[in-house]
Amino acid sequence: MAFEGIAEKLQNVFKKLTSRGKLSESDIKAAMREVKLVLLEADVNFLVVKKFIKELSAKAVGAEILESLTPGQQVIKLVRDELTELLGGKQSEIKLAGSPPTVVLMMGLQGAGKTTFCAKLAGYYKKKGKKPLLVACDIYRPAAIKQLHVVGEQVDVDVFDMGQDNASNIYREAAKYAMKLGCDMIIVDTAGRLHIDDEMMAELKELKKTSNPTETLLVLDAMTGQDAVNAATAFNDNIGIDGVILTKIDGDTRGGAAMSVRAVTGKPIKFVGVGEKLTDIEPFHPDRMASRILGMGDVMSLIEKAEASFEEKKAVELQKKIAKDQLTLEDFLDQMEQLQDMGSVSDILAMMPGGNKLKGLTVDEKQLERTKAIVRSMTREERLNPQIVNASRRRRISAGSGTTVQDVNRLLNQFEQMKKMLKQFSGKGGKRRGMMKFP
Ligand code: GDP
Repeated sequence: MAFEGIAEKLQNVFKKLTSRGKLSESDIKAAMREVKLVLLEADVNFLVVKKFIKELSAKAVGAEILESLTPGQQVIKLVRDELTELLGGKQSEIKLAGSPPTVVLMMGLQGAGKTTFCAKLAGYYKKKGKKPLLVACDIYRPAAIKQLHVVGEQVDVDVFDMGQDNASNIYREAAKYAMKLGCDMIIVDTAGRLHIDDEMMAELKELKKTSNPTETLLVLDAMTGQDAVNAATAFNDNIGIDGVILTKIDGDTRGGAAMSVRAVTGKPIKFVGVGEKLTDIEPFHPDRMASRILGMGDVMSLIEKAEASFEEKKAVELQKKIAKDQLTLEDFLDQMEQLQDMGSVSDILAMMPGGNKLKGLTVDEKQLERTKAIVRSMTREERLNPQIVNASRRRRISAGSGTTVQDVNRLLNQFEQMKKMLKQFSGKGGKRRGMMKFP
């Protein structure tokens, strides 16, 4: 889970600070030393840590904090603010071209998650109303071209390839093709190598010259820590990048790359990859990430995620149905699918305040699948009128869904109870959009 280790350790440091009423300068200095150790253990670049702690300490022992009534909390807030700055301060979005198409050149070492991210980004902007085209310029690995077609299809975005032709040629033809299709965004997947080498840099430079990208982005695997930061320096020095994409932060318990890359390269992190699914993409918000690293959860991202997956119109319709007591199992199935679209339930829990403490609490996603299977085994008539589901129908449904009659009974009972409960709520909290969903 992302940043789990570091969040836990920092919380221990903070606990000591807040357990005392008044703090002395030496209490704060001791805490700063501990924060320093935690950051170094998290594989944050040594020079970055040194500078960070120096600035933080200077502010933390100021009279304002020492004399305040809640010095512990003040120090935590200060750490959060400084960490936000370290991560880039304000959110840095992908720049869009004044006159389309926006061209995004995606670079990175092999295995960093470049091809996956190209599709994630295409899907992300498609949902925002753009018309992207994916271009396969990873000319050395036929498998990579095929992979781009596969993921492109999954997000329903066109993919242009010319096999293993010269990358600059491919780009020129792709740009014409994009114009023909009316695409306003071109996302170019380039060749990655296992190691940085001169030939690779020369090719990328040429491709950058030909494509004149609006944004040149470097995809880095967060789990590789300082190696990722070193790669960022090399790409930036050789080719020049506008920003960084950090992938696999779902598996990064330490956070060293996330916390160093901006300070070392001066380039912002623009997006993060938070899982293998093509919807596992999030814009990078330094303030929210700082809260997450400090173990304060990430309620804002959670809310946005929920809002992106729950379609507004459907929610309003659902609201009406609940009020009129017309809820059907069809709606129920729909809601479960939307819930799964949000990402795995355990990921969602991790984003809630204190969620990183819910270790060991596993959400039974299999149960969710079983429930879906039961509803899918019903006829449409049964889904709309669950009261007609008599004993023989229950037997048929359980056989069809590979469950037991008890499972079917349980689901139908739960559905009835839930309907009652939602109806009660709908009078009072009807405006709480997104919260009025199935439990
Ligand atoms: P490329 O060689 O840079 O194009 O890398 P790929 O896009 O083929 O990705 C390499 C592997 O990383 C694949 O197995 C992806 O599923 C996986 N991957 C990519 N992004 C993420 C992410 O954000 N989280 C996780 N857990 N896996 C990812």
